[in-house]
Formats: sequence, structure tokens, C-alpha cells
Amino acid sequence: MATNIDTLIRTVTNDFVEGMEKSGEFARRNIIGLVRELDVNEDGTLIATDRNSSLIQGVSIGIQQVTASFAFENRVDKVVNSIPDIRKAVERNFIVQHGIIKGETIPILNNLQTRVENDMEQILSAQTIENEIHQPVSDITQQLILGNFSQEKAIDFVNEKVPNLFTQFAHVRVDTTLQQYSRSITQILAEQEGLIWFKYSGPTGPTSLGNHIRDFCDDHVDQVWLKAEIEQWPQQNWDGKIPSTNSFTIFQNLGGYNCRHDLTPVAAKDVPQSSIDRAKRNGLL
Ligand SMILES: [Zn+2]
Repeated sequence: MATNIDTLIRTVTNDFVEGMEKSGEFARRNIIGLVRELDVNEDGTLIATDRNSSLIQGVSIGIQQVTASFAFENRVDKVVNSIPDIRKAVERNFIVQHGIIKGETIPILNNLQTRVENDMEQILSAQTIENEIHQPVSDITQQLILGNFSQEKAIDFVNEKVPNLFTQFAHVRVDTTLQQYSRSITQILAEQEGLIWFKYSGPTGPTSLGNHIRDFCDDHVDQVWLKAEIEQWPQQNWDGKIPSTNSFTIFQNLGGYNCRHDLTPVAAKDVPQSSIDRAKRNGLL
């Protein structure tokens, strides 16, 4: 990902993740407070009583209030409002390198922008949050009673599972959608100019989180690839690959969840001889 675009996406994602972390922390404390109030058997395990059931239903309502709040709406707005900014940044980079965006491409980019804005609102809608966070949290609290947990084990279980649901959701959905959007714009612009060579750009070696980039990205990064070669990549499997990846969506999904790489179009005159030789060897040129 070009640095300025990557920074933009990271800033928006982190802001949303931070907000969701607060919601997750609120939910975690709320549930643990409740676990301490639940009725237990003589052996100390949680028990299914009417009182416990209604206490647990109270947690569900508490969590719904978190994501129905004004603060949550505000965070969603910030994410949606970043979509035109990302487009501008990608377009600027493209113009610097390749000179022009043709008039006929603009309606295509406008359609894409509208679609991604709608998708993002859908992804961060009350219904999605209900399905992907509230429902699993409810399932977790139900399990506390049905699973013969002791109170202490129940608390460990909640500490481990609940915050993750909020932060993973925020990371994967916001980051991945914005990265895919940014790459889709590049794909459309490359198509417009008939550009068929792409440099696999972005981080090499250890990431800022201390872990190494995935093998798939490591194998391709810093090299220039022919479009026809890239279209064959989805035939392989690798860790983190998004299941819907095919010869068209590879240009948007690339390495998959949390991948921070992109395919930067390269003018034919700038393609290294080694890339041309490799494409010829593979019978694609
Ligand atoms: Zn990657």
C-alpha cells in the first residue's frame, strides 16, 4: 500500500477499533459483574435458574445499547466519510505516475464509491452488529450457565472471548473493506490505461506488530508481475486468503485479511528484464 493511503486507512481503522475496544471493555465488565451475581450450585458451578436466565438477558440489552449510541454512529460516519478521501489519495498517486485519469473512467469510479459507501453502512449497521457481536456474546453468556462453569472459569472465559469479538470485527471489516476499495480504484485505473504490469508493493520483513508478513506476500513482494501471472495466483491456497478470491478479485483481495500490500501499475518501459523473462518462461508473454 502506498504509504499515504496505508496511513489513511490505518488511522480510520484504528479510530474505529479504539471505539469498539471501549465497547468491548464495557461489555466485558458488565458481564463479569453479572457472573458474580449468578446463583451457583453447592459445588460452585453456575446453575440454570429463572433468575440467572433473566440476569443474562439483561446483558444482551446492555450490549445493544452500546452500539445504538450516538458515539457509535459518529464512529461509523467517520469510516464512511473516509471513502472519498481514500479515492482522492489513490487518484493522486496514479496521476503522479501515469499522468491522467480519462473522463470515461470517472462514472465507473463514482459508481464504485457509492457502492462501497453503501456496503460500509451495511457492514456497520445495527443488524450486522446484532448478528456478529450481540448474538455471539449472548451465546457466550448462555454457555456459562449450560456449561457447568465455576464462577472463576466463567470469568476467564468472558475475559478471553468477549473483547476479541468487538476488536476483531472492527479490524477485519473496516480495514479489509477499505483496503479492497483502494485496490479496486487502482484496478479500474490500470484497466483504463491498458497497464498490464504491477509491482507487489508494501512492507517486507517483520511488521510493526513484530510478526513477519505472510509467506504468500513474502514470495511476491518487491517484484513486478504480469497481469496474467497474478490471475493465476488464486489457484493456490495460503494462510489468510479470502475465500472469494478469484482471477478478478485477486487484484482487490491480494494476500487477504489485514494484507498491507498492493499492486502498483508499472509502465511497460519500466518493467525489469527478469520479470519479462519469467513471464516468457511461464508461457504468458
Ligand atoms: Zn500482504
